[in-house]
Amino acid sequence: MLVARREACRSHCSQSSGSRKGRDRIARGESIIRMIERRKTRQVSVGGVPLGGDAPVVIQSMTSTYTYDVDATVAQIRKLAEAGCELVRVAVPEKRDTEALPAILEQSPVPIIADVHFHYERALEAIAAGVHKIRLNPGNIQDRRQVDRVIAACRERGIPIRVGVNEGSVVERKDKGKRAEQQSGLDSDYRGHMIGLMVETVEHYMRLFDENDFHDVVISAKSIDAAMVVDAYRAISERFDLPMHLGVTHAGPPETGRIRSVAALGALLAMGIGDTIRISYAADPIYEVEDAKELLCSLGLRNRVEPELIACPTCGRIEIDLITLTAEVRKKLATIKTPVKVAVMGCVVNGPGEAEGADVAVFAGKGKGIIYVQGEQKRTVREADMLDALYEETLAFAERVERGEVSLTKTRVNIVPPDPLPRSDGSIPLPVARQG
Ligand code: SF4
Repeated sequence: MLVARREACRSHCSQSSGSRKGRDRIARGESIIRMIERRKTRQVSVGGVPLGGDAPVVIQSMTSTYTYDVDATVAQIRKLAEAGCELVRVAVPEKRDTEALPAILEQSPVPIIADVHFHYERALEAIAAGVHKIRLNPGNIQDRRQVDRVIAACRERGIPIRVGVNEGSVVERKDKGKRAEQQSGLDSDYRGHMIGLMVETVEHYMRLFDENDFHDVVISAKSIDAAMVVDAYRAISERFDLPMHLGVTHAGPPETGRIRSVAALGALLAMGIGDTIRISYAADPIYEVEDAKELLCSLGLRNRVEPELIACPTCGRIEIDLITLTAEVRKKLATIKTPVKVAVMGCVVNGPGEAEGADVAVFAGKGKGIIYVQGEQKRTVREADMLDALYEETLAFAERVERGEVSLTKTRVNIVPPDPLPRSDGSIPLPVARQG
């Protein structure tokens, strides 16, 4: 009866273990997922952080403070770095911003990139202050000699330049004839023509860098349209072996921008395209770093260094407030710095099967939960104690891992579930745990 119920449950539970064929292949130790083959690009160094080539995909973000406010900017940079951000960009629209750079650079734990638009003087000031990279669109600086001066200053300091073409910036704004010609192309085939314009703009900028014999260049080609971002980067990466900075521009708040960003960046990274990523949100940039980390870990492009949380999506079998519990577990696990896999499951019907990849798991039922550590049933606790007990077991397990006494679960452990009979009302009671 329980088996039949479990099978029925699997079709409802989105944490399903996949097809029978897939499970058989996993059981035989075969990988059903091909490792992502990264596209080889030229490597540049950003303040000692390698970007491109065989370097891991680098996580970056941008401050939302006024750069001239040194204390606020440094505080945000530190917070981002602590969360796992490896490069931070700051905007320098005014002279007072570049004047703040030496103090920021002195206190920053990660390399700093100066974001320059329109005023080549800001670029020269930022370079002189010692920034580790600049972001510049040559098209925003009218005088070619000024662009050449910026390139010469970067060469002298040995720092790279990121050129970014955005969907919104490649259409001609001044030359009316050229604009009309572009517009008719865009009207007939917007997507195809826009990608053509983005590629042409990158080619134009690259000629400029080639003429200056400057090759430490990183490219970005952003749009708010995830599919356009994928097509633009694919087209550009076919033509250039320069490192790619991936991003979706003006993605919006995390609630909507997350899907847009992950759709585009996930697709590109899975194709091996992308050397650094910035997920951009209209929100505290800390979310950008958290999501970038999760994306790279989910694709196997970075190793986890912190706990991974698995939680069931809940369904009509749930007997506790699992959503609140999961949020609290997530917060509490943030203090642990070992990549332990923790599962929070809503029942003993499907939970054990779904949590077999976890090091520590709790299966919750009405008023209580049963905790397993690497397949071993540890204890049954009251609902009110579930959070603390799960944390204690996770911390104790993490400490044993750190002392080398146990290893993290590599594939799956065998969790033998309790075998309770459903009550007359259809709910499933949790048994009293064996003492362990
Ligand atoms: S409560 Fe959770 S684990 Fe149990 S069947 Fe529903 S979704 Fe799956």
